[in-house]
Amino acid sequence: MYIDLSELKNKKHGRKELNLEICKEYFNDNGEIVKFLRPIKFNGSVRYVDGIFDLTGKAETEVLLACSRCNDSFSKSISIDIKEKLSDTINNDDAEIILIDIDKLNLYQIIENSLVLELPVKRLCSESCKGLCQQCGTNLNSSECKCNNEDIDPRLAKLKELFSNS
Ligand SMILES: [Zn+2]
Ligand SMILES: [Zn+2]
Repeated sequence: MYIDLSELKNKKHGRKELNLEICKEYFNDNGEIVKFLRPIKFNGSVRYVDGIFDLTGKAETEVLLACSRCNDSFSKSISIDIKEKLSDTINNDDAEIILIDIDKLNLYQIIENSLVLELPVKRLCSESCKGLCQQCGTNLNSSECKCNNEDIDPRLAKLKELFSNS
């Protein structure tokens, strides 16, 4: 998805609305393939002020993640605020400015970069996910196993007692 901003630059002070959908199948999150479950919806705009393109907007989509505890896949809705400064000239001291090709802004790449930062490191299908049995590998969310998982830390056992009384 490339966007041509050269027209905006010629106007000196201009604004371009960006309301679009980007269809992607998946992206690579540090070696892990993450699938998109629906197109990315982007609603925002670019403003050109004093040589800088100000990109703001909201990107929304849904991705398929693997649970860190039980390894089951689950869907997660994502909504990220995008706020970036872009420029087509390299002589900018500001490290936060992203260098772009003025006639070929890769909006998807910018969204993906934010998306990778937005995704949690620990991904749980639910807060109460029981995970896999350490001994036999059974998914404890859907079935029980016969392993003895009761020999837990005595300090935790004390806590457990406290909670079961309440
Ligand atoms: Zn899980
Ligand atoms: Zn087990």
